[in-house]
Amino acid sequence: MSSNGQLTAHNLPDAFVRRMREQLPDADAFFDALQTASPVSIRLNPAKLSAPDTPFFRDTVVSEVPWCRHAYYLDKRPVFTLDPCLHGGGYYVQEASSMFLDRILRQILPASPVRALDLCAAPGGKSTLLSAALPPDSLLVANEVIRSRAAILKENLIKWGADNIVITNSDPSEFAALPDSFDLILVDAPCSGEGMFRKDEKAVTEWSERNLLLCSERQQRILDNIWNSLKPGGYLVYSTCTYNPAENEEMLRHLLTRHDARSIAVEYPAEEAIVPTSHGYQFYPHRIQGEGFFIGVVQKQTGNTTSPTPKRSKRNTPRLPEELQRMLPPEGAWTCYVRDNIFGILPARHADFIEELEKHLHILYKGTELAEVNGRKIRLQPSLALYPYLNKEAVTCRKVDLPSALRYLKKEDITVDAPAGAWVLITYNSIGLGWGKSVGNRLNNYYPKEWRIRMNTD
Ligand code: SAM
Repeated sequence: MSSNGQLTAHNLPDAFVRRMREQLPDADAFFDALQTASPVSIRLNPAKLSAPDTPFFRDTVVSEVPWCRHAYYLDKRPVFTLDPCLHGGGYYVQEASSMFLDRILRQILPASPVRALDLCAAPGGKSTLLSAALPPDSLLVANEVIRSRAAILKENLIKWGADNIVITNSDPSEFAALPDSFDLILVDAPCSGEGMFRKDEKAVTEWSERNLLLCSERQQRILDNIWNSLKPGGYLVYSTCTYNPAENEEMLRHLLTRHDARSIAVEYPAEEAIVPTSHGYQFYPHRIQGEGFFIGVVQKQTGNTTSPTPKRSKRNTPRLPEELQRMLPPEGAWTCYVRDNIFGILPARHADFIEELEKHLHILYKGTELAEVNGRKIRLQPSLALYPYLNKEAVTCRKVDLPSALRYLKKEDITVDAPAGAWVLITYNSIGLGWGKSVGNRLNNYYPKEWRIRMNTD
């Protein structure tokens, strides 16, 4: 770093600078771009926000991200923690280059439901994108091998309100028990992070040629482990946030030469300045408004297309208490389950497959948890408040202003007028944030303590 904290070719690792100069005819412009601030971008949750017009960023939206639906650049980075809509899953703050996944999905996804796997999913940026982009009635399995990171993934996906999901905490090798199971697999691989140099100082200090080698060995292992779980005819999307060809191009080449993959070209307008490589697409910060990123897609050659359908098992579907039933959309295609006294729903058409997943993977969460039921006592779950299809007619809702919303999210007491004993859905800008239980003019705050805002918001 230079004395003013900026990256220049002089304070980056020599071997990296040398390679980038070989790789890029306009390397000076690349190094200059590393000294500029990172663009700020957000992606709206179409189930919760239809336009970027919340009070928080209405005046800062400058343009759309050209390759992604519902995505916008802002002209400055606000303190996002202070926006209740973020906590309510109204949008996700995501670096723009990685949103190119949306362009790819629009090209390769059929209109019919699919089963998708996001293998390296935490903290959940691409899982939230996938969950919004998959055809209706699809299933998304979001997996993260590192337990602490899986908890963050779970929080982000519950806030997003995705209901067709299963969150797992398994090693890629554990998917060997699930051959020909997914129509789409995303491997957003752990990498050397060169594309994040501008945003993350640690990526610079941890960079070494030895680490590049370890990364590519790990990436190859991950791809070899997961390839069998892709259905014939299915697509594997591979991405990293690095410029290192050994972690990018070479990994796609590995799939094409060692596995039965064929390369898929992505259609995009050439003026978008995304650099095609032989099998993928490289994003550079001096060419586009975004960080360094690589993405490519391959298709498994069609062979045996009959993938094993798990046998329909006879399960005793529990009866959902009437009070909860009323809170759900009337014609939901879901089935009910109970786990540790928690009633939840999951997509009925995927119930057998989810049962199969449970035999082989460590499942942290599935579908939408509704409530913990102990005898006649019902404790509504945070996920039900964040569920975008909650029937708000069937619950007591209270709209709160910004200071009250922030106090609620800090798990402090707030005052609302509701009948004593009623469960109250706290909403801000029409987005559900969480539950409270009315005790007259005060509210017992049921916001999860591990999610609470810890910063001073005054
Ligand atoms: N897809 C995420 C998103 O868009 O928010 C970012 C994923 S990040 C680039 C890579 C993830 O791979 C990390 O969460 C990391 O914990 C996980 N990971 C690390 N080692 C792994 C391994 N051996 N197999 C699978 N995943 C691994």
